[in-house]
Amino acid sequence: MTAIKPQPGIMDIALYVGGKSHVDGVTNVVKLSSNENPFGPSPAAQEAVKRSVHELHRYPSTDHRALRDAIGEVHGVDPERVICGVGSDEIITFLCQAYAGPGTEVVYTEHGFAMYRISALAAGATPVEVRERERVTDVDAILAGCTDRTRLVFIANPNNPTGTMIGLAEVERLAEGLPEQCLLVLDGAYAEYVEGYDGGAKLVEHRDNVVMTRTFSKLYGLGGLRVGWGYGPKDVIDVLNRVRGPFNLSGTALAAAEAAVRDTTFVEKCRSENTRLRGWMAEALAEHGVPSDTSTANFVLARFADQEEAEACDLYLQKQGLIVRRVAGYNLPHCLRITVGDEPSCRQIAHYVGLFK
Ligand code: PMP
Repeated sequence: MTAIKPQPGIMDIALYVGGKSHVDGVTNVVKLSSNENPFGPSPAAQEAVKRSVHELHRYPSTDHRALRDAIGEVHGVDPERVICGVGSDEIITFLCQAYAGPGTEVVYTEHGFAMYRISALAAGATPVEVRERERVTDVDAILAGCTDRTRLVFIANPNNPTGTMIGLAEVERLAEGLPEQCLLVLDGAYAEYVEGYDGGAKLVEHRDNVVMTRTFSKLYGLGGLRVGWGYGPKDVIDVLNRVRGPFNLSGTALAAAEAAVRDTTFVEKCRSENTRLRGWMAEALAEHGVPSDTSTANFVLARFADQEEAEACDLYLQKQGLIVRRVAGYNLPHCLRITVGDEPSCRQIAHYVGLFK
């Protein structure tokens, strides 16, 4: 056994168990457990990846200028206030490294994304998990959970795994009510699925205590290349750039993300298909006695009678080659999170949940 011990908090981090991608003895599985885009990445992004092989011997850009400019043009944000990371996971990590640490607290909700706790503990901070009512981000509960030690508050809007979302006025009430020494991190991993929603970009522009994070892993279909970005006050982005390694993103990832963000036709198509199929699937499940909250993202949180029924349904679906996600770790043991797949997958889910019930 090595004599050296890890920093306090590290052994409290549970090893991450991601969405399953295979089932023993079942071939041709449909993976609906990680909220991936069933239509894959934009053809333009695929072409950019192919072109990038000619540059594999070169170190990539350190300032991500071309990608930040593209993000700036398409999303109407100031590229000088954008930072790119290895998935939005890395932006979350940078925020915790730079602003949290021993003696500080990081607040998120019981149904908040797993990385908030992991990054807080890895930075030596104390994670504070706030209880909620009815699976909707509860601003009053979060404000009540803040103390003079709180440095970061994380909310995802839309939230994973609930799929629910709160209005920007409510987000602003949260930002307004936070203690002075605290940043609100508005995680917009699923923002693209909400037509007309800017993920909180405008809020970032007129407040000095809000940072927005975004990803290319969901609607852009580039989860395998790991690209995310953050938008925040200039001084915060400057701080985050100091903890960022100079070559954190590969040239291939940068090229693909730049092409993807510019392919707005593909984005529109994926968004509208998701909205249509999500509505259809949620209704079909409800008809089989499996309700869900109104989802604004690319998944639905299906509610079963209890944990036993949810687990039995999960195992039954696995036998049919359909992999969905258990979310007991998010204090939702009676629920299964089901990604909105393509039309045949949505029909299969509805069919087999109906047979199970
Ligand atoms: N935030 C939320 C709410 C998520 O669901 C995810 C991915 N599951 C992420 C952030 C991280 O995504 P990525 O690191 O792939 O950008």
